[in-house]
Amino acid sequence: MKQDITALRTDQFVSSIWAGGDYRAYSFEVNQKPVHFAIRGKWQFKDAAMFSMIKKTIAAQRAFWNDYNISQYTVTLMPFLTEDEYSMSYQGTGLTNSFATWATSNRNTSPASLMYLYNHELMHHWIGGIIENEQPEELLYWFSEGFTEYYTWRNMLESKFISEADYKRSFDSVPALHYADGEHANANTVIKENFWTNYKFQKLPYNPGPHFCFLS
Ligand SMILES: [Zn+2]
Repeated sequence: MKQDITALRTDQFVSSIWAGGDYRAYSFEVNQKPVHFAIRGKWQFKDAAMFSMIKKTIAAQRAFWNDYNISQYTVTLMPFLTEDEYSMSYQGTGLTNSFATWATSNRNTSPASLMYLYNHELMHHWIGGIIENEQPEELLYWFSEGFTEYYTWRNMLESKFISEADYKRSFDSVPALHYADGEHANANTVIKENFWTNYKFQKLPYNPGPHFCFLS
């Protein structure tokens, strides 16, 4: 396949995604802009089910932002090998015009179990990506993670992935989780100091953002 690459910075090129081999590829368009989904391996769900969830997620996010200015986009999914038929884990990374995902391919991995991952992580294209955090970025995680979290749930509701009751339940728990955590009253600068070494601090920015959005 021949590709012409223009108007791309070197750092965008080196963080682009290249996939080859036995991938099964599917495509759709959002306002004439192609989105590709490439999956390999054996799963407990049909490719079409995962493709449909990704399609709805991306279409809803672009409609929300009214942003169709992404010339093309690719999502890849490949299996992690695990011998435990019940364990479930996944991992994803945002790259140039693409998102690469790995997940265990056993019975607990489904479009529903990866729905949150895609709805949250692809939202970072805008919050954290286009709306970039200033450095040191840890000081602004309350905004980039908090608002992403809020719009993740809003989008899942609007795409009808979850019910109104699920949505309300997820936000009902936010103040409780936030205020129950003994670290919540720490200044943002203290959160930054401890962010990468303490799990409790790492979770903190996910709560004030949704809390703030929900109240306003
Ligand atoms: Zn995030």
